[in-house]
Amino acid sequence: MNNYDVIIVGGGSMGLSTAYQLSKEKVKTLVLERFTFQNQLGSSAGFTRQFRIPYPEEYMVKLVVQSEPYWEDLQSQTKLELMKKVGTLWFGDPDVQTTEGNIKLAEQALTNQQIPYTKLNATDIQNKYHFKNLPSTYEGLFQKDGASINLKNTVETLHSLCATSPFISLKEHSKVDKITSSANQDIQVTVGNTTYTSKKLVLVPGPYVDEVTSLLRIYLNVTYWNMSSAYFKLTDPSINYPTWFVFQPPKGKDGNEFYGFPAVDWDYPGYIRVAPDFVINPLTDPSQRTSIPNKEELALTSEWVKNHMTGIDPRPYHTSTCFMALSNNASKELIVDFAPSFVPNHQNIVLYATGWAGKFIPLMGKILSDLTLNQTTEYDISHFKLTDKHLKNI
Ligand SMILES: Cc1cc2nc3c(=O)[nH]c(=O)nc-3n(C[C@H](O)[C@H](O)[C@H](O)COP(=O)(O)OP(=O)(O)OC[C@H]3O[C@@H](n4cnc5c(N)ncnc54)[C@H](O)[C@@H]3O)c2cc1C
Repeated sequence: MNNYDVIIVGGGSMGLSTAYQLSKEKVKTLVLERFTFQNQLGSSAGFTRQFRIPYPEEYMVKLVVQSEPYWEDLQSQTKLELMKKVGTLWFGDPDVQTTEGNIKLAEQALTNQQIPYTKLNATDIQNKYHFKNLPSTYEGLFQKDGASINLKNTVETLHSLCATSPFISLKEHSKVDKITSSANQDIQVTVGNTTYTSKKLVLVPGPYVDEVTSLLRIYLNVTYWNMSSAYFKLTDPSINYPTWFVFQPPKGKDGNEFYGFPAVDWDYPGYIRVAPDFVINPLTDPSQRTSIPNKEELALTSEWVKNHMTGIDPRPYHTSTCFMALSNNASKELIVDFAPSFVPNHQNIVLYATGWAGKFIPLMGKILSDLTLNQTTEYDISHFKLTDKHLKNI
């Protein structure tokens, strides 16, 4: 009775998306979630995420484009709106390199992939997109296919598809505390006094990744970001913003990079979300997470809004935090791979962790399902391999 083809540890957006794809192949799947489905304690908390095609790496540009049919498929399954296409605006110092990338390299990658975009100078950015007081050296690009993802609707849609599938069992309040994997035997996954077995295992535990992978003696070198976000009131309803990101050199502890969203009717209507893309004090353990944003980060965000945005009140009305595990290596990329070869049965254990992958939710479900069922995928995930650089030296 407790035997499944696949067990998924983690019922966030990625776990549900993987289960949905596995259900299309009629695979008997169990999803174990330590809190509740649609909880606000992981990386899929909150309402919005950016969908953007600009990336400095061509393989990322390709992957975002490849995710579009999977978003369309998901949208066809629900009446809820999953995305609002408002375009992506990238602007700032064209030479600055951040964890999000760099404007010049992104332009090159878009050109190489024949993705249309409009090149902008500082005056264009101010006149067309309502920013102000930008240095005259700032440059930018606008890519029309960018969108604000309704993450809440996305997770709700995936949850409802999984809950109604005859192939999927969903169990919440089920914290996995033991995993036993021996060569040529079924994998055993234990929650309290109950043990479930399966041929294959998918690990998608979000920010709690190290806690889960260490059950298999995989110790990941990660840092934890309790990311702040604030909502500012739109005082001029005749204007709206696209999704945007500003690239600027850091000033000491102030990472000086910010990103924002349009006002949308599903996320504090009449308010615009702006967030710093840096944290002043990274956490060393998930238990340090708090729902109260860092005061300095909020003050810096407010100051930037006051100095550079028009038509909004620079006092934050609502605030939120969201919690991420990020790889400690410089590029902070995703990890999508099998367990390392020192883990018995490693070829039957698939892992997704770290990085900003909200835009890939439906595609990542397909990739993880492909890896689980076929050991391979047609999508290029060669850049997301789990290597020694991701592991702690212990
Ligand atoms: C502030 C913020 C802004 C972001 N912005 C963007 C953006 O603009 N664009 C973009 O593309 N991406 C963005 N991202 C990234 C994106 O949100 C994440 O990549 C995505 O939500 C990850 O989903 P997940 O399912 O892997 O993790 P989660 O949603 O955290 O799900 C993991 C689940 O596993 C469960 N779990 C953990 N341990 C156990 C256990 N032992 N047993 C059972 N269950 C367990 C957790 O409770 C959790 O529910 C952002 C993330 C944050 C935090």
